[in-house]
Amino acid sequence: MIKFRKTKIICTLGPATSDINVIRKLAEAGMNIARLNMSHGDHKFHGNLIQKIKTLNKDLKYPIAILIDTQGPEIRTGEVSAELDLKVGEIFKFHVIPGQEAEEKSVFVNYTDIVKDLKIGDKVTVDNGLINLVVLEKNERELICRVIDGGKLGSRKHINLPGIKVNLPSITQKDIKDISFGLENDVDFIALSFVRSADDIRQLRAIIDEKNSHAQIIAKIEDQEAVKNYKEIIEVSDGVMVARGDLGVEVELEELPIIQRKIIKECAFQGRRVIVATHLLESMIQNPFPTRAEVTDVANAVFEEADAIMLSGETASGKFPVRCVEMLHKIALRVESSGGGVGYVLQKKPKNKKEELARSAASLADSLKTHAVIVITRRGTTAINIASFHPEFPVIHAFTNMSSVRRKLWLNRGILPYRINFSSDPEKTIALAIETLKKNGIVEIGNQVVILSDMIAGIDGTDRVETIQVRVVK
Ligand code: PGA
Ligand code: MN
Repeated sequence: MIKFRKTKIICTLGPATSDINVIRKLAEAGMNIARLNMSHGDHKFHGNLIQKIKTLNKDLKYPIAILIDTQGPEIRTGEVSAELDLKVGEIFKFHVIPGQEAEEKSVFVNYTDIVKDLKIGDKVTVDNGLINLVVLEKNERELICRVIDGGKLGSRKHINLPGIKVNLPSITQKDIKDISFGLENDVDFIALSFVRSADDIRQLRAIIDEKNSHAQIIAKIEDQEAVKNYKEIIEVSDGVMVARGDLGVEVELEELPIIQRKIIKECAFQGRRVIVATHLLESMIQNPFPTRAEVTDVANAVFEEADAIMLSGETASGKFPVRCVEMLHKIALRVESSGGGVGYVLQKKPKNKKEELARSAASLADSLKTHAVIVITRRGTTAINIASFHPEFPVIHAFTNMSSVRRKLWLNRGILPYRINFSSDPEKTIALAIETLKKNGIVEIGNQVVILSDMIAGIDGTDRVETIQVRVVK
C-alpha cells in the first residue's frame, strides 16, 4: 500500500524559488501550499508566481493551493546609508520625524506614537530579537535608549514592542490592497498578520464576503494580545498559525513551546486547522543538513498533530529549498508511522449531528482497520469534520467536484483530496471514487473501505442525508 504523509507542507516562495522549474520540484518533493509573503516583493513579482503556480497546477498530480500572507501593522526602522554598529551599553535614539538630519547614533521609526506608547524602562527589540534596547528618556520627537544587546543595524528592520498595545489598524491600507490583489487572483487562503482579536477576523471576513470570494482565513498568532484572545480568535478563523518568528520576540522565549502546545490543543478541541511556522529548518538556509534540534522540533510538531508545517526563509531565500521539503517529508512520514501522537483530539466533542456522524466514521475506520476511508464532500465540510477527529489509521480520501474545495483540503492533516465529476446518481459518484483509488493503486478488489457521504439521497442537493457505509471493493 502506498504511504501518504498526513502532515501538510507549506513553502514560502521568494527569490530562491521563483523559477517555475524550482516550484515544480518543490511540489514534487511534497509542497502542498505555496505562501506568498506580502512583506516582501510587489504585486508584479507575486502575480508572476501565481501565474506560474496556475500553469503548473494544470499538470501536477497534486495541484497546490496558494496562501497570501499580509504584512500587517509592522513597525520598521528607516533607511540607513551604511550599517549602524550598536554597542552594548551605549546610547541610541529612535526618532519619529521623517527627513530629520540623522544624528550619528539614531534611526527613524515609521510609527509616530512610539514616543507616546512606550514608558521609561520599556523594551525595544529590533531585527527579530537580535538587537535589544531599553528606554531611558523620551520626548515628543524621540526615544533615548540604552543598548542591551548590540549588533549591526541595516535599513528597514522590523521593530517589536513586546507587550505594548500598538495604535495601528490590524488591517492596514497596504493590507487591504494586498488582500484585494489576492482575491482578484483567486487565492485559497489569506493569512492575517498580528491579529489581536476576533473582530480583526470578522473585518477580514467582511472584505472577503463583499468580493464573493471563497478564500479562507488563517489567523497568525504572534503577539501577547493574540495569545490572550486565542480561544475567540480560533473560533472565528478557518485556521491559525503559530507564528513563532514574531511570537519568539513578543513573549519570553521559554513561553514559546508552552504557547505552541496550548494553541494546538485548542485547535484540536475546536476542530480548527493549525500551522506551525518559522525556524523549522533555519540552519538549512545555509547548510545542506539540519541540526538535531531542528529535526526534533519538526518531529515534535508532527507528534503534536499539527495540520501543517511551514518553511519561510528556508525556501524563500535559502540555498537548499528542495532539500528542505524533502527533509520535512521524510521526518513527518517517519514520525507518523512510529505510532501515537498526543491525542489532543480525544477531548473534542461533536458540535452537531454532522460532526457526530464524522466521529463515528472515523472510529469505525479505526476499529475495523479498513483499507481506506472515502469521503464524498461538496464544500469540504464533511471531509474537514472527519479529519478533525484525527483517525489513527487510514488517510482520508476526499472527493469533491470543485477544484477550489480540493485545494483548501490540502491544509488538513490526513486528507488526500481529489476532484471528480459528481453524477446525479450518487451510486455512480461512489463507484467513480472507488475506481479512482483502484487506478492509483490505493485499494484493490477485496479491500474493505468506509464511505462517509453527504449526498446519497441528495440528487439535486435539496434532500441531503449523511450516511456511513462499509463496503468491500469489487
Ligand atoms: P512572518 O510571520 O514570517 O510574516 O513574520 C511568521 C512568524 O512571525 O513566525
Ligand atoms: Mn510574523
